[in-house]
Amino acid sequence: MKYLSTRGEASGRAFSEILLEGLAPDGGLYLPERYPAVDAATLARWRGLSYPELAFELLSLYIDDVPAADLRALLARTYTAEVFGDERIVPLRPLEPGMFVLGLSNGPTLAFKDLAMQFLGQAFEYELARQSRSLNVLGATSGDTGSAAEHALKGKRGVQVFMLSPLGRMSAFQQAQMFSLQDANIHNVAVEGVFDDCQDLVKAVSADLAFKQRHAIGTVNSINWARLLAQVVYYFAGWFQATPDGDGPVDFAVPTGNFGNICAGHIARQMGLPIRRLVLATNENDVLDEFFRTGRYRVRTAAETHETSSPSMDISKASNFERFVFDAVGRDARRTRELFAEVERTRTFALTETERARLPAFGLVSGRSTGADRLATIRQVHGATGQVIDPHTADALKVAREHAEPGTPMVVLETALAAKFGATVREAIGLDAPRPVRFAGIEALPRRFVTMPVDVAALKALIVENA
Ligand SMILES: *Cc1c(COP(=O)(O)O)cnc(C)c1O
Repeated sequence: MKYLSTRGEASGRAFSEILLEGLAPDGGLYLPERYPAVDAATLARWRGLSYPELAFELLSLYIDDVPAADLRALLARTYTAEVFGDERIVPLRPLEPGMFVLGLSNGPTLAFKDLAMQFLGQAFEYELARQSRSLNVLGATSGDTGSAAEHALKGKRGVQVFMLSPLGRMSAFQQAQMFSLQDANIHNVAVEGVFDDCQDLVKAVSADLAFKQRHAIGTVNSINWARLLAQVVYYFAGWFQATPDGDGPVDFAVPTGNFGNICAGHIARQMGLPIRRLVLATNENDVLDEFFRTGRYRVRTAAETHETSSPSMDISKASNFERFVFDAVGRDARRTRELFAEVERTRTFALTETERARLPAFGLVSGRSTGADRLATIRQVHGATGQVIDPHTADALKVAREHAEPGTPMVVLETALAAKFGATVREAIGLDAPRPVRFAGIEALPRRFVTMPVDVAALKALIVENA
């Protein structure tokens, strides 16, 4: 399998070449040249495989430059009951008749990002050793991504992690998850500023191409192809669990921010997994809901971006969306380049009528959920079932109910555990969210971090000193 860029100027790339890269050199995103088809006989053969074996079968279709035995061993190390708390890795549980929750958030940081990031950590270590290289991962986080990255990369050979976060602005739980790591290759940098300052620092360092090259600066952001690929696996695992006695279609509802998670669902569907609808749920930051209703993509400004109680979906533009657009315009790289050049110029593009007419074939439908919806949904689920769901999952459930059809199981993806969002859960049900025992008292653990002003030179000095 070879990879191409959505903007057409890179092609014929191998998996191990693009693994450590973010954007393609032409500014596009990498995609495989085609989506391998999975037929009913193959699905029947895969039913009953363990999660790491299923991951191996699927990833083998996309990775042909890692020896099979190495890939199999790497996946067996990644997806263990020890790390994910359950032999099934992503256990499905019933919520109400026809409605299920797929538990994607039982990994080390209690969010679904662990499923992709743990794979990335293993793959980075493997590939860096194979190429005799090392990498300095630089990132900015306001919470979930940074802690998932640190927990995936801690102790990995050949990797140093420099993770910037706004001093004093993360929840106590999130701070503890990151700052309690004692591994020598993890460098927590608490910046005296806000999240945007952290992001600007990362951009400034990355824009110094000589520095970037000399110090092998890399990232683990959500546009990385390997992260997306790892996410395709749980759509298959969810489908198997939702169809115990047959092979009928299933709907999936996805709390969406940067369009990474639901893009993996789109790829699973393109491969032939019987998915009827992919239900895209946004919060008040509804740029994607607007697109699927109107065919118009309108990126928001910082001032137009709401701070909500489902913060991991607070985005102004969706960094993975270009992959879907590329497929939706018939994999036309010139047209994709034109549309995103228009976004650069005017913050918006609109599909033609002909292009819009092709959208329904992709099975994506959308809806929006507000702060009040989130609270009401958490409260209703708790009252009816005793289960406590997190605010992002609640957004997806709210929208899932608007699109559910009798006879088709609806699977809601659980992207975080409620314990991570204690304040909102308490507001909804007046109780603390249950916290897994292994997280008891983490706020009291010793912390390892440095503070830093918003100063590019100071950040570079820190990297040079520790790289
Ligand atoms: C990252 C995240 C999302 C959004 O996922 P995308 O892949 O960016 O669409 C939703 N919920 C939670 C809890 C997250 O951490």
